[in-house]
Amino acid sequence: MLIALIGLALLLIFILVAIRVGVNKEREPEKAEQPVIHHSGIYSIVRKSPRENIGAHKPSMDELRKYLASQNVDIQGKAISAPEKERMAERWQTDLEKSLTIIEEGDKKGTQFYYYDYAGNDPVCQDSVPKGSFVTREQIFHYPNLIPPFHVGCRCSIKIYQGDENLRDTRVFGFKPLISENKLPHLPEWKKILVSA
Ligand SMILES: [Zn+2]
Repeated sequence: MLIALIGLALLLIFILVAIRVGVNKEREPEKAEQPVIHHSGIYSIVRKSPRENIGAHKPSMDELRKYLASQNVDIQGKAISAPEKERMAERWQTDLEKSLTIIEEGDKKGTQFYYYDYAGNDPVCQDSVPKGSFVTREQIFHYPNLIPPFHVGCRCSIKIYQGDENLRDTRVFGFKPLISENKLPHLPEWKKILVSA
């Protein structure tokens, strides 16, 4: 009798758990269908700060320091001293922070276009990311690796395009799209070290 009762209780518990699992399963798709894009349209998504997931596209400071510790010369064969390595790692962080802040500021203004500029000679990037080439905010959203710095010692920076013209339509002199036919150019590998002159 006791065994039968225990068996019955176990069966009841099993049924309850099964019902619970079934209910949860039914609820799941509902959760997934929750609209991600809110009433303000595509830009509420596009304008999500890239800061949150930039770590998936750029090396961390730890990774950077570890890599630099293992390197003795830059791409031009110039020797790198220990203090220089630390300076480059810190500059990476400062420059990345600068880029992220520029994009966040642009989002407050509703900026759609950004262009690339150089603070000095940068043989690593200048061919793949020409000075004055532009990207849209949407492209930055899809490809966060378009955010400089691209490599250690990179001199490239991103700037807000302030003009009124739609760069896509008018091809303003000196500005060319970086991405044509949705094909991302080959961006430099972050491991390419360029010591400042
Ligand atoms: Zn560069």
